[in-house]
Amino acid sequence: MRLYDSVIADTKEQLSMLTPRAWAYDESRAWPDAGVSELVLMRDAAYELGGSGCPAVNFTCVTTEDILTENQVVLYGPDLRELKKDAPYARIAILKTTQLGEDDEEAYKAVRDIEFVKYHVFPKGYMFRISSGDFREQVRVSKSALRRGISFRNVGFDFIRQYLKNPNVLKVKLIFVTDPKAPYQMLTADAKKASDITRTLTHILDGMPTDCSSCNLKPICDEVEGMRKLHFERNGRGMGTG
Ligand code: SF4
Repeated sequence: MRLYDSVIADTKEQLSMLTPRAWAYDESRAWPDAGVSELVLMRDAAYELGGSGCPAVNFTCVTTEDILTENQVVLYGPDLRELKKDAPYARIAILKTTQLGEDDEEAYKAVRDIEFVKYHVFPKGYMFRISSGDFREQVRVSKSALRRGISFRNVGFDFIRQYLKNPNVLKVKLIFVTDPKAPYQMLTADAKKASDITRTLTHILDGMPTDCSSCNLKPICDEVEGMRKLHFERNGRGMGTG
């Protein structure tokens, strides 16, 4: 599975001008998870990540390449307790998975399952709303969670703990970005591309016919190496002309 590798490489490039802080995963330090969605009321909130019109980007990339050496949280910018007001925000999950056979329907269902993990993480006092249409993830952080010591490190560990419950996930790198100088527009473009790749996979899985001339996903297949091959192999016709 290398379909997302160009997005991963671009994201790395976009963030290369910033200085990160990084922490190796330690499950014992994961922030408590509420297990269900919790409401943080405005009056109980210290601020919102992505609030007041600030950028708020979220996306997930899957790879089978050996680019992750350990489970890790990486932060570019101020940590939760260093922020005093609404701030820009991005959360990017890069997941190394088991070798998912590229013509194996179960494997691609696994990618979708992995993608859905984000809907099953509920860090206490860290209420996020995901809007898949524009790739936004806005977070309301409670004052009491800040008093109790919430940080991107321990919230990130909660995400990693949930991702690792999926047997196809081997390693997780969870990246948080709050630096006002970060290229959020470019990260949003990466989020769109990652979403387009997942959407195309879903259509291929749904048994869409291989007629590239009338397919509205053609721009994605023209750009993402391996996608067209995947569809034609899955339909057992060999490579098409596009
Ligand atoms: S291979 Fe052709 S038909 Fe299949 S998704 Fe890509 S453009 Fe569409």
